Amino acid sequence: MTETIEFQAEARQLLQLMIHSIYSDKDVFLRELISNASDALDKLRMESYRDKDLGVDTSDLHIELRTDPEARTLTITDNGIGMSRDDVVTLIGTIAKSGTAETLAKLREAQASGTEEVTAELIGQFGIGFYSSFMVADRVEMTTRRAGTDGGVHWESAGEGTYELAEVADAPQGTSITVHLKAEDAEDNLHDYADPSVVRRIVKRYSDFITWPILLNPSGVTDTVVEGAEDDDESTPDTSNEPINSRKALWARPRSEVSDEEYAEFYRHVSHDWQEPLETMRFTGEGTFEYQALLFLPAHAPMDLYYRDAKRGVQLYVKRVFVMEDCEALVPEYLRFVKGVVDAQDLSLNVSREILQQDRQIQLIRKRLVKRVLQTITGLRGENAEKYDTFWRECGRALKEGLLSDQDNTQAILEASSFASTHDPEKLTTLADYVARMPEGQESIYYVTGESRASVENSPHIEAFRAKGYEVLLLTDQVDEVWVGMVPSYGSGDDAKPFASIAQGDVDLSDDAEKPEGFDDLLAWMTTTLADDVSEVRLSTRLTTSPACLVGEVGGLPPQLEQMMRSMGQ
Ligand code: ADP
Ligand code: MG
Repeated sequence: MTETIEFQAEARQLLQLMIHSIYSDKDVFLRELISNASDALDKLRMESYRDKDLGVDTSDLHIELRTDPEARTLTITDNGIGMSRDDVVTLIGTIAKSGTAETLAKLREAQASGTEEVTAELIGQFGIGFYSSFMVADRVEMTTRRAGTDGGVHWESAGEGTYELAEVADAPQGTSITVHLKAEDAEDNLHDYADPSVVRRIVKRYSDFITWPILLNPSGVTDTVVEGAEDDDESTPDTSNEPINSRKALWARPRSEVSDEEYAEFYRHVSHDWQEPLETMRFTGEGTFEYQALLFLPAHAPMDLYYRDAKRGVQLYVKRVFVMEDCEALVPEYLRFVKGVVDAQDLSLNVSREILQQDRQIQLIRKRLVKRVLQTITGLRGENAEKYDTFWRECGRALKEGLLSDQDNTQAILEASSFASTHDPEKLTTLADYVARMPEGQESIYYVTGESRASVENSPHIEAFRAKGYEVLLLTDQVDEVWVGMVPSYGSGDDAKPFASIAQGDVDLSDDAEKPEGFDDLLAWMTTTLADDVSEVRLSTRLTTSPACLVGEVGGLPPQLEQMMRSMGQ
């Protein structure tokens, strides 16, 4: 029985964009399908470690590519984890990622204004691997069966709004995807994906590091159902029972032998991003705890970075074998934008997430990783200011969350951070530069928090500071409101400078605390009149042109938080 099902609305819109794609490099569809096949093989191997009753043969896991010039198809087959019917409906028929609606809205805008670069960039943020096959196909077929279950499904779609699903009794375990190539690409020799030499070139370029064997038109008996594979054409030169990829883990190869291009492709595979990484980091640990790490900073914030369900992007391997993705034991939440791989030598392959949290070796690697990432970010500012600015714009807010949760690295995070200040209307400043500019007599780092630069800059609280030549940090991210209440100072030892809000407490800016006289009656009257609203009315030297301003108590709640509490009825 065949059912016709509609793609979810967001998925449909994205598919439309893909089909009428502006994406110039269509070859990448193959990279995406191979990446998915590789993930599926990783997952199957892990599941078979954890579930001894799964009952699948994992001795010959591989990816197979079959070209059929007559039928004009390319088929990508893996004997990995596969999908159930429900998996297909949710994983292929919908996009469940946080931030989808927002990114789609931006995409529509970009398309309307015809800015192709932006469109391509935004498309990249979805990591829309599977749908990219519609850049080259009129029609895509998929047969899949979930490991450890009976009965598979056949999925088929032209990408126009709906897809068809049917049950198949005898599907082999794993997934087979047949791409029916668009006729118009046939004349293009370089991009004829039914030509084995084209396929070989693309695999070499994009998927060489994939650790599973990728076979191209292998001869001999296979238990996969592949259309057009029956004709025994002995004259086909491009068949291979040897893998066409070299399968070497990049992090295990000498640094000098890995090109930037290869790092970029690997980054795309682990991050599901379509762009190049901003920065690549490699480091190793030796001695008792041997490990290798290959990590990346992204050039743009992952779509879900500021959503609750954002994943951490570091995968754990043990001796070249994939163990788990999104390994939260290895990276703190505030560094969730870091992508890559840690390969540890002395762990059990079936280690659980819970055990990892307690593992001493993992804790040490995590410490090292955090230090290294923070150093890299700080270093970037000196080496390549443009890259640093990109990083900060995209991921800075996430990094600052570390000020709330990582006491051990507070100073390093402050060092890696940048802040808007009254010193420069456009450029951000480091705290070190702020301190270097502090005039004689200024003891604290002054800041003001609020919703936007414009609103805090015009705050009456700032006037006296300006008049005195004191710089004020303008903190306008939500997270700022919270960390300023938790981090007492910047710097260490005698050089530590406390943070002080210009809106709280009795900031005394007068040199000899000389207060004008004759205001006692006015103050007394105001105190009585305003008794219900304020706790005290006092003379201030902090204002120059405004007659009065409201200040919070030292240790009291910052105004925005107070407002929040009030609106919640507290
Ligand atoms: P992503 O890989 O970024 O999750 P894709 O569009 O490439 O996005 O794939 C969507 C999902 O479909 C995958 O996360 C995976 O769960 C499932 N999937 C795709 N291809 C396969 C496959 N060959 N085997 C098993 N599951 C697959
Ligand atoms: Mg994918």
